[in-house]
Amino acid sequence: MDLGIKGKRAIVCASSKGLGRACAMKLAEAGVNLTLNARTQETLEQTAEEIRRATGVEVKAVAADVTTEEGRAAILAAEPAPDILVNNAGGPPPGVWSDWGEAEWGSAIKGNMLTPILLATAVMPGMIERGWGRVVSITSGSVKSPIPQLGLSNGARAGLTGFVAGTARQVAKHGVIMNNLLPGSHETDRIDALMNAIAAKEGITAAEAKKRSHAANPTGRFGFPEEFGAACAFLCSQHVGFMVGQNILLDGGAFNSTMG
Ligand code: NAP
Repeated sequence: MDLGIKGKRAIVCASSKGLGRACAMKLAEAGVNLTLNARTQETLEQTAEEIRRATGVEVKAVAADVTTEEGRAAILAAEPAPDILVNNAGGPPPGVWSDWGEAEWGSAIKGNMLTPILLATAVMPGMIERGWGRVVSITSGSVKSPIPQLGLSNGARAGLTGFVAGTARQVAKHGVIMNNLLPGSHETDRIDALMNAIAAKEGITAAEAKKRSHAANPTGRFGFPEEFGAACAFLCSQHVGFMVGQNILLDGGAFNSTMG
């Protein structure tokens, strides 16, 4: 399917690895020019070069912490007028509710709620003026079904979800479409770190923790980043003009529900 976005310009945050990288690759395959971002310059440059070579699109790389004001300013200086924004950042650390005080909550809210809100707020006036825009925020399945050890994620991302729900319905008439993508477990470094944490807590190996988690999923596996990236590219496409403020769960059916 032609996604109809060849030649558009996208900012994909936190995109040197994992889900962000997969979204960037699928957008590039659709002919979208990219501004990528991550903190570690070397990995970021490597990813940028791989995407350039594979697709021939223009790729800028901004090594910066997207959760800081300076980081966001650097990204926006590299791409001041994006047609597409994919919001992403690292996830908060696991723990239990009694571990977390003001500092921990402050940093989770900054990274997983305020950062995507502020970036969307910065780019949407231009999108509205041009009459076209797509904002996809990578959140988490934890927004629909809380993950006990990821309380910081459950809370902070729910705040972002509320912002998107209200704002998506205000900007849609200007051709600016906001939706969220909710990953369940996918094969990335992040899931490896979480498997290690579960293994340490339960006194099993990380391989055993992964095997159990695979078995608990209706598909018998974790998601592949490429599948996630393809869904993201679709949400950034011409075809989603009537799909507004949705929370799309990609979890292999792990959330057990007849509807919703
Ligand atoms: P990942 O494989 O660990 O990749 C994270 C990417 O983000 C890397 O490119 C990393 O590069 C970059 N990054 C992290 N913090 C950043 C920051 N402050 N500023 C700029 N770049 C940053 O993670 P992932 O699995 O793709 O996860 C992406 C998001 O989805 C996370 O928020 C995660 O919690 C959420 N999620 C993932 C899963 C899953 O199963 N994978 C499930 C639910 C939710 P640098 O370290 O060099 O900055």
